[in-house]
Amino acid sequence: MRRVRVTVLGKSPAFADAGGACSGYLVQEGATTLLMDVGNGVFGKLRAAIDYTTVDAVLVSHMHADHSLDLVPFAYALMYGPDGRARADPVRLMVPAGGRDQLRRVVGTWGGEDLIEDAFALEEYDSGAVLDVGGLRVRTHAVPHYLPHTNALELSAPAASSGRLTYGADHGPADALVEFARDTDILMVEATLKAPEPDGPRGHITAREAGEHGRRAGARRLVVTHVSDLIDPAWVRSEAEAGFGGPVTIAAEGDVYEV
Ligand SMILES: [Zn+2]
Ligand SMILES: [Zn+2]
Repeated sequence: MRRVRVTVLGKSPAFADAGGACSGYLVQEGATTLLMDVGNGVFGKLRAAIDYTTVDAVLVSHMHADHSLDLVPFAYALMYGPDGRARADPVRLMVPAGGRDQLRRVVGTWGGEDLIEDAFALEEYDSGAVLDVGGLRVRTHAVPHYLPHTNALELSAPAASSGRLTYGADHGPADALVEFARDTDILMVEATLKAPEPDGPRGHITAREAGEHGRRAGARRLVVTHVSDLIDPAWVRSEAEAGFGGPVTIAAEGDVYEV
């Protein structure tokens, strides 16, 4: 039986760990290779893992810098490597609604605003869309975050009868994620905060809340991610396990999860 294999390239929140990278996950199934999120620092980690020219598609959960910024070096490598353009065909890039304009504004500040669209075959997706990449199927679902158009992503390989891996992206307390991840095999959920935001809208959750999301969803396995190395990992684990009611994995670069 083929499996969906997810390798952690980066798991830091908006500020990278010492020597680490922000969010990025390499997803492989059969001959299909997908990069899920591409935050700052991820392109170097991708290069250490595989030949970047073999990536079939890139999928971005939301357009915050720590999930999208290394589209810039990835684009430069595809377009202007030492041997010229690295591939005849552009790499498929899926970004949430509004992502195209956002990327044009970012790269337009220092030059050609077409950089990303020249390197990638860019398409926008709406929350709720189902995206097929080779044998991989990705379901998308809106979650509440500081940025509209933030999406939880569920990975599976229907033809291979794989399990499901649900990635929550970034979010505040999210009943939407609990429902979307119902009975999932692996839930990867953020645990950004040491304490809930004192006022205003919630955009992230604590390790205790991450555990509670996993328990309420009935996830078979819980992985907490988007956690800074500035937070004591033993505290993160004890809080997440208290919320989940069972053992929890703390995501680390190089970890591999399979469903
Ligand atoms: Zn983030
Ligand atoms: Zn975010």
